[in-house]
Amino acid sequence: MYLYDSATHKKEEFRTHTPGRVEMYTCGPTVYHFAHIGNLRSYIMEDVLEKFLRYEGYEVDRVMNITDVGHLASDADTGEDKMLKGAKRENKSVMDIAKFYTDAFFDDCAKLNIKTPDVVQPATGLIDEFIRVVSVLLDKGYAYVAGGNVYFDTSKMERYYVFNDHDEEDLAVGVREGVEEDRNKRNRNDFVLWFTKSKFEDQALKWDSPWGVGYPGWHIECSCISMKYNGEYLDLHCGGVDNAFPHHTNEIAQSEAYLGHPWCGHWFHVHHLNTDSGKMSKSKGEFLTVSLLEEKGYDPLAYRFFCLQSHYRKGLVFSWENLDNAAGAYDKLIKRIAALTGEEGEVDETAAARFKEKFLAQVGNDLNTSMGITCLYDVLKAPVGDATKRAVLASFDRVLSLSLLEKAAALREKEAAQAKTASSSGGFTVQGEGDPAVDALVLQRAQAKKAKDFAEADRIRDELKAQGIEIADVPGGAVWKKI
Ligand SMILES: [Zn+2]
Repeated sequence: MYLYDSATHKKEEFRTHTPGRVEMYTCGPTVYHFAHIGNLRSYIMEDVLEKFLRYEGYEVDRVMNITDVGHLASDADTGEDKMLKGAKRENKSVMDIAKFYTDAFFDDCAKLNIKTPDVVQPATGLIDEFIRVVSVLLDKGYAYVAGGNVYFDTSKMERYYVFNDHDEEDLAVGVREGVEEDRNKRNRNDFVLWFTKSKFEDQALKWDSPWGVGYPGWHIECSCISMKYNGEYLDLHCGGVDNAFPHHTNEIAQSEAYLGHPWCGHWFHVHHLNTDSGKMSKSKGEFLTVSLLEEKGYDPLAYRFFCLQSHYRKGLVFSWENLDNAAGAYDKLIKRIAALTGEEGEVDETAAARFKEKFLAQVGNDLNTSMGITCLYDVLKAPVGDATKRAVLASFDRVLSLSLLEKAAALREKEAAQAKTASSSGGFTVQGEGDPAVDALVLQRAQAKKAKDFAEADRIRDELKAQGIEIADVPGGAVWKKI
């Protein structure tokens, strides 16, 4: 496949260190709060990417961290520890908060058909490994101790600003009003590998280390977790675009300083989900979760469909109206699939292979998921039998994960159940859409007609009409439907 690499700023043919195998790493959530649907956009697109690579025939080894320590409110090592902030907000322990929001994250992922990575590693489970790597960085002269903390010395890297060509002066990241600059740092973008001197003396989780009791920085955890499970050569690193600097920049610096050779072959960054008022974030009030979508009556997969309709490298604007449009299109798509017959029929393998080839080329062009959706409609319109259509749709859904055939089957079952709930009385049968109260009224109307009480029969018909229900008389009964 061809994939844009944010380190080279080019769309390139995707290659791996070991042919046929992809070592893939994803920055996981910081589990101090629910994920908002903007965070989840990244995980949806990364999920499609992983599934597409598998569909192409790669073996994929996907690793993800869970940040449960050391991520400060600013990505540049300043501000309050996010986990501690979450614990204070809910008056719980840090470990309780971590457990609760880790579970909540995977519940949301399950609702969105996001597969759980092969390895999921909480940062607190690998502290010895972080200490070992930090010690090596110190030994190699890439790190220094100052004021009790261990810092990475960014001036030791030949090319630190990997994702952009900004110079140091332009990058005042994390230096916000009211946040003091850390005077221990030799260079502005040096970052903490191990904290012992935090402004937050009550940091809940601390470990012994050669530099004193403390806790790891956020960036070191991703490098260590990836190197441990993916090995020395990472093929594909994913994350939200806001992680590119300083988080991913720092991961590259640490990993390459430690390994002594290039580390990651390809960087994949998903762009923001925006609202009318700008980027969606947890601190700005606009905090939309999967549960909120469900409370408002949306199928979480309609949100997945909404995300797949646009390209991962473009900002996506969320509004309820936009989501309504996507949900409407998703429902219609499911209805069209539910109307297919030929479950037992023969599949035209030549036609199926042709569809698959086109899908691979379209989606394989920088993960163009909206063209992947267009491929679904092309199949539905094509002059091939329904059995072939069903087989091809099922195949594409291994990548898109929209539960197309499952939802279509559920819809057919629901319709069949409604048809079966026909009510009968005195040889008169009412067939409708599964509402017993309406069935009862239709029966009353039939009895009124039989008793020649036409005024009453008309009154009932008008009452039903006012509810948006139309009755048609058929031999031996009546059929009603909502209009
Ligand atoms: Zn990370």
